[in-house]
Amino acid sequence: MSFDLSSLNPAQAEAVNALDGPVLILAGAGTGKTRTVTCRISHMVDRGIPADQILAVTFTNKAASEMSERVGQMVNKAAGKEITVCTFHSLCVRILRTGIDRLGYKQNFTIYTGNDQTGLIKQIIIRKGGAQEKIEPGLVISLISKAKNAGIPFSEMDDPFVAEVAQAYANELRAQNAVDFDDLLLLAEQLLREFPDVRDICRKRWTRVTVDEFQDTNSLQMRLLQQLVGEPYHVCVVGDDDQSIYGWRGAEVANILQFEKFFPNPKIIRLEYNYRSSDSIIHTANSLIVHNVGRREKQLRSVKPGGEDIRIISMPGDAEEAEFIAHEITDLHRVEKIPLEDIAILFRTNSQCRHLEQGLREEEIPYRMIGAQSFYDKREVRDILAYLQVLANPSADIPLLRIMNSPPRGIGQAAAIILTDNSRLRGGSVWESMGVPPEDLSTRAKNSILEFTTLIMKYRERMTSGAENMGDVLLELMEETGYIEWVKRNSKNEKEMDMRRNSIDDVVQQLKDASKKGKTLQKFLDQSALARDREDDNDIEKQKGVTLITLHASKGLEYPIVYLVGLEEGILPHKRSIEEGTTDEERRLLYVGITRAQDRCTLTWCSVRMKWGQEHAGEASKFLMELDDKYVEHMDYDDIMGEEASEEDLANFFADMRGDS
Ligand code: ATP
Ligand code: MG
Repeated sequence: MSFDLSSLNPAQAEAVNALDGPVLILAGAGTGKTRTVTCRISHMVDRGIPADQILAVTFTNKAASEMSERVGQMVNKAAGKEITVCTFHSLCVRILRTGIDRLGYKQNFTIYTGNDQTGLIKQIIIRKGGAQEKIEPGLVISLISKAKNAGIPFSEMDDPFVAEVAQAYANELRAQNAVDFDDLLLLAEQLLREFPDVRDICRKRWTRVTVDEFQDTNSLQMRLLQQLVGEPYHVCVVGDDDQSIYGWRGAEVANILQFEKFFPNPKIIRLEYNYRSSDSIIHTANSLIVHNVGRREKQLRSVKPGGEDIRIISMPGDAEEAEFIAHEITDLHRVEKIPLEDIAILFRTNSQCRHLEQGLREEEIPYRMIGAQSFYDKREVRDILAYLQVLANPSADIPLLRIMNSPPRGIGQAAAIILTDNSRLRGGSVWESMGVPPEDLSTRAKNSILEFTTLIMKYRERMTSGAENMGDVLLELMEETGYIEWVKRNSKNEKEMDMRRNSIDDVVQQLKDASKKGKTLQKFLDQSALARDREDDNDIEKQKGVTLITLHASKGLEYPIVYLVGLEEGILPHKRSIEEGTTDEERRLLYVGITRAQDRCTLTWCSVRMKWGQEHAGEASKFLMELDDKYVEHMDYDDIMGEEASEEDLANFFADMRGDS
């Protein structure tokens, strides 16, 4: 056995040994669900189940890479490579890359992520005359996503204008041989459902399926799972209904609570011991979650008795909140020698992040941010990826329009409009219209277009031939098009120029590495699109420092020391949830946050918060009143610091906290 069975408690061991038929592990936070299924997978390998038939699906890229790493440590190297550990979305990409042609798409389809989607929706809104009415593209996108996930036809959407935009959006994605994130799931499910031969191939390919964080699957993901897993249903799902935090995205707690409806006679395993957090943390978290109605009663006991009290600190403002935490972290790190990687600051909304970052920067504390603006949002990165997307699939209009005239090459706005209109008339892509340039284009534009398409074809050939390193080819392309020169010329100063040049080099380097590993351009693009999935960005994991992370992205993770900031009405619970009457989900979110902490947990709230440059009075979150006081200590920043806290006061305060005299 490649792991120590005695390191598991009896219920965990039972789950590890129950390899056949459906298994449901229903248990609270930190009870070792993820650890148990990881051991279970390694046990499968020991029992001779071929590693390449094992599939584990998780919710975020980060969780997938963590699980993959843990499994890798337990099984032999070859097996580790053969086991598939991925997210739902990347699983769907794998399925679609081999069979999407059955659904009328071409194999080289492009995945449109947030920015591409917004670009396309904006275009459609403007064309349909909705721009004057100030229709928010983001809202339209989320309505479309909701309809798609709920299986509601666009024609039945509430707002007729949105319905029209949604239909046009769907048509154009098809014309451009592109799909969005929701399509990945929808199309994969459709493919498996409509083509039993494809489904059977998948069922033979993966005979053992595990799903972590199952409480956050939606009905579409459930249907996909049903297609994927046939009799005798060797499927194991793991979850905690108290941690369901994606209701707003259609997650169905019913999937877990009614699991037996989908997969009959499952073995149900409950885990009751929490190995992660001290008793004080678990006690406090439990006292919060009991305020939710209609939940399943669950035992959750800590195996770490005692522990430090939870601190609730009221702050005069958000700047002080950040400053206080930064000071304290410096102290923890310098005096107590606590590694920065053991510390996380959790927040509800991205707008809270700026102050926190500033506080950390002022103290020169390195940090990594998960869930906010990422590498892929940088202009140059988006440009270069757009070039690559065009090389892979020229029919994708959005990236094509993005780079057509970047750098300027005489295919300006007017030409773009003519080309787009023409493509719509012909029911094809802009690229196709470039092949037969419409008459009303100027001769100059026509020449430029010919030059451009020739260039793209040339590089498309080189990039996909496999004969050269793709990174080198990309660099040449960026030089030949004059892109690098253009970026240089358009930078405000040297610093900006360096930064932008660095971003270009980063992509080139990434592509070089991918090329060396034998990856294709398509594979590289898939991975970069999937890395942009919502709020987690795996590359960030490699950076060192304190973790700044949204509550949503923190699911499944653990840190010895956790700060939970901004516990105010309107933030947590979020304003929208108060309006919509969904504060139970916010309570679960806070429950997730508190249960990330292993040893120390600090909750803060501010009586004044800056918003759009103005001061707003803050009111403590109602959740704070719900926490049982047994292990809670209430503190006030002003009392701790006095009127004008000096560096020395802070130092003394922290010495007191540690019990130094
Ligand atoms: P979450 O609900 O937050 O996803 P989880 O149930 O998946 O939590 P894990 O992350 O698997 O819990 O485990 C929490 C911690 O407890 C980990 O550090 C894990 O190594 C430890 N742990 C789990 N089971 C045991 C055990 N039997 N003995 C010792 N440590 C354990
Ligand atoms: Mg887990």
